[in-house]
Amino acid sequence: MSSCPRVAYFCMEYGLDPSFPIYAGGLGILAGDHMKSVGDLHIPLVGIGLFWDEGYTRQLIGAGGVIEDHYPKTPRDALRRLDVKIEVTVRGKKVPVRAYKVDRHISSTLYLLEPDRDEDRWITQRLYGGGVEDRLAQEIVLGVGGVRLLQALGEPIDVYHFNEGHAVFAGLELLRQHAFGGNTLPERIARLRPHVVFTTHTPVPAGNEVHDLELMRKMDADLGFTDAELEMIGGDPFSMTVAGLRLSRLANGVAALHGETARDMWKDIDNAAPIIAITNGVHTPTWQDARIRAALVPDKPRERQDAELWAAHQAMKQELIVEVERRTGAHLSLDGLVVGFARRAAAYKRADLILGDDKALKHLFDLGIQLVYSGKAHPRDLAGKSLVGRLVDATRKYPGKIIFLENYDMKLGALLTRGADIWLNNPRRPLEASGTSGMKAAMNGVPNLSILDGWWPEGCEHGVTGWKIGDPDPSDDPFDEKDEARVDRRDREILQRVIEREVLPAFHDRRTWTSIMRASIAMSQWQFSSDRMIEDYVSKVYSFAE
Ligand SMILES: *Cc1c(COP(=O)(O)O)cnc(C)c1O
Repeated sequence: MSSCPRVAYFCMEYGLDPSFPIYAGGLGILAGDHMKSVGDLHIPLVGIGLFWDEGYTRQLIGAGGVIEDHYPKTPRDALRRLDVKIEVTVRGKKVPVRAYKVDRHISSTLYLLEPDRDEDRWITQRLYGGGVEDRLAQEIVLGVGGVRLLQALGEPIDVYHFNEGHAVFAGLELLRQHAFGGNTLPERIARLRPHVVFTTHTPVPAGNEVHDLELMRKMDADLGFTDAELEMIGGDPFSMTVAGLRLSRLANGVAALHGETARDMWKDIDNAAPIIAITNGVHTPTWQDARIRAALVPDKPRERQDAELWAAHQAMKQELIVEVERRTGAHLSLDGLVVGFARRAAAYKRADLILGDDKALKHLFDLGIQLVYSGKAHPRDLAGKSLVGRLVDATRKYPGKIIFLENYDMKLGALLTRGADIWLNNPRRPLEASGTSGMKAAMNGVPNLSILDGWWPEGCEHGVTGWKIGDPDPSDDPFDEKDEARVDRRDREILQRVIEREVLPAFHDRRTWTSIMRASIAMSQWQFSSDRMIEDYVSKVYSFAE
């Protein structure tokens, strides 16, 4: 790991700690884990992000099931203000920007930017808040401001890593500066590309941000590009993902399957970087309970390891039961199978799949199944909110059998991925790019029960490390609504069958279950750790091939 070039990593959100909510979900947790492993492994990488004054929504379920979004101020005690000021231009107006270093939660270097004057603070008021103009203003501060900050601090950078298209303005700023030489725009791009790498995260076309060139002009960041030049970089309308692919030397998806999906999705884009796959991972010291590691230290006889592993799991399950009771008043049984499901309330993740057949569901309840959900909807995502509403309704219909925990955050993520018995994941394939909650579960001995999507084809050995829900059917079309109903029905039936015929018999046999727990931990411990992920980024992405 010694010959790593100096890297600047750009991301809109970072999930470092529950007490520092400048993250919304998976992307931020991934970036947080990236920064933590970089610190542990002493990789010369600095992170660039934004300080979100009100973070992301604290989402509560009010009386009568009304979903309420609250925006408490983000605590500033983890920040140290730097003695440096830079300037960006938004809507043709100068915006002075200050910078902080994050002094807690990580040992690596993370700089966060914030407009210096109150009148400009709308830009970073809320993570993913506001409309497209706010988003562009945020991206200008992140990208243009980030590059200028690194220069003001005298940080030498060999490679710029754009984590998601949000960071593409960093590339535009480097081009404006002729940072790596070249005269014409194609020459400047060719000189820049060896220094940029790009990670794409979403196989849902709507999740890839595009902006009208007219709006780009209106948001005037004073970078001096003509419409034709912008079009050469990102197309018309300007796609942040296309720009990322054209400004980088190498791009990657976040799991092997997602790499294939992304290659297919962007195959018609000319001048795009090749897309490889680096599968995500999670920070083991953050997400794996220390009792799991203690149970499995190698110098103990196997029976003792098994007994301690089981005892650790029961203790963590009991902690979940206590917290569920404290938060909802509902009492879960320690004996029945607890199925965990916690995700962003996006339609493709199908949180309510298993709820779709009442009769089959009641049968599962008779067999002792208990479902524990958590999730947040984006404040302006009405479909997501109605999904949360359906889950909350289900808790009223089946009290004590279905639980919904409000305000999904890192704390609940940790509680659920160690306290559940199995971790359910049933997205519409291939729309889950990676998914990392299942990795957290796996390394706590909570086996996955999942569609073969995202990372799971790489971790699943059916009946050994967990279970798959059916096999991929190449005829499935995730965007055909008529097809959706058929696919949902089929997947629901398979899911119910696997639970009843395979998961439950294993669960009721302690020896079988502990061996599955062990296999789940052994499979994930290294392969789905962010340390492995960082080693892959260093050797396959950051290092210069020349
Ligand atoms: C791990 C985590 C995620 C990402 O999980 P997915 O499986 O990708 O949905 C999102 N939010 C929180 C709070 C998490 O802890």
